[in-house]
Amino acid sequence: MNQPLTRRAALKTLGLGAGLSALGFLDRGARAAEAATARVNQGAKPVTITKVRAITCATQGSIRFVVIRVDTSEPGLYGLGCGTFNQRPLTVVTAVNEYLDPFARGRNVDDIEDIWQTAYTSSYWRNGPVMNNALSGLDLALWDIKGKRAGLPVYQLIGGRSRFAVDTYTHCSGFDLKQLENAVKIRQEQGFRHIRIQFGSYGSQHLSAKADFRETGFGLPADQHMDSLPYLQAVPKMFAHIRATCGDKVELLHDVHERIEPIEAIRLCKELEQYRPFFIEDALSPEQNGWFAQLRAATTVPLAMGELFNSPHEWVPLIKDRLIDFLRVHLTQAGGFTPTRKLAALAEWFGVRSAWHGPGDLCPIGHAASLHLDLNIHNFGIQESINFNDATREVFPGTHTLKNGYAIVNEAPGWGVDFDEEKAKKYPLPAHPGYWEPVRRRDGTAVRP
Ligand code: MG
Repeated sequence: MNQPLTRRAALKTLGLGAGLSALGFLDRGARAAEAATARVNQGAKPVTITKVRAITCATQGSIRFVVIRVDTSEPGLYGLGCGTFNQRPLTVVTAVNEYLDPFARGRNVDDIEDIWQTAYTSSYWRNGPVMNNALSGLDLALWDIKGKRAGLPVYQLIGGRSRFAVDTYTHCSGFDLKQLENAVKIRQEQGFRHIRIQFGSYGSQHLSAKADFRETGFGLPADQHMDSLPYLQAVPKMFAHIRATCGDKVELLHDVHERIEPIEAIRLCKELEQYRPFFIEDALSPEQNGWFAQLRAATTVPLAMGELFNSPHEWVPLIKDRLIDFLRVHLTQAGGFTPTRKLAALAEWFGVRSAWHGPGDLCPIGHAASLHLDLNIHNFGIQESINFNDATREVFPGTHTLKNGYAIVNEAPGWGVDFDEEKAKKYPLPAHPGYWEPVRRRDGTAVRP
């Protein structure tokens, strides 16, 4: 039976007591350990959650940020998280303020894993974007608090760095090939080694000629139009042009953003193989996960998937069968830092790398969480980056910076990102609710993005 190892017994066992004790080295560590053990065993009063609340702002224009703040029983100690669900922000606000706040109050801020597990099932139904974003806000705020209490950035709490900084990819698009080529060259000059290229918007909608549905009054005038053939013909030409004009050294990425049929996606990936893409993203919609085996067998193009995923039931099969190369999971949509960290660990053993979704509709605290994970994990692949505007940097002091294509985190304890609530009031949510406008084929059939 194991006996508790006291400081004196430890020193005796080592036979080093007098010498090291005189140096004060082992003595100090042992004293701290004894004190900490006593605190836990005697049920010392923990630091507890006193309030959880969601705050919205729109410093990036049309993007609707949802920030979650957790206050504690220790004066001045608070944590910040991100629960941004750009298309449904007020549902997350309700989930946090009406349901997670009363659930979390009084709980020990130290017990992140337990709070995550119990909050996850506290709504009984789970793995949806609203509850996952709300849970993410609470989870990230608790990691922020743990880092502040330890006086360390969060990445140090999980094992420290695997790399000096986080390599990122940036976005370029153009409505003609010359415009796109110029955009890529500017980004190359800025130091980016990885560039996502899009011909126009998602699905190259500008190439779809005639929206017959509009003439009949089907749908609304604002509904968008995308036929797959012009897109499928344009993308290989885009890759050929950028390879020919921007060289073979740059890593090229492309986001299909679903919107085509599975067999079309297979044909497109096969055609793109000759241009050595770094990855092709979201070639299939999540509803078509079952096609990945056929896609994988048909091509060696690296596949990135998962920004729409909410649930382990979506990502576990693709990882265990090695059907994708990069995980695109959106950290807040997956429920926060706690589950995404586990997902990264699972993927490591199957040779799947990270490429966390890092768009404008994730606040700087959410980006910080992705970046801290990127710094730590062995199976980091690449990070999508955004250069936040001045308004966001003013409201979120400590937001990461970009240099030579690398993202650099602020080294302050926790996530290193603060939130100025007073300044945020200058940026209320825009009037438009922010849903995706429907995209239709020429006959009006809805396309799944
Ligand atoms: Mg995407």
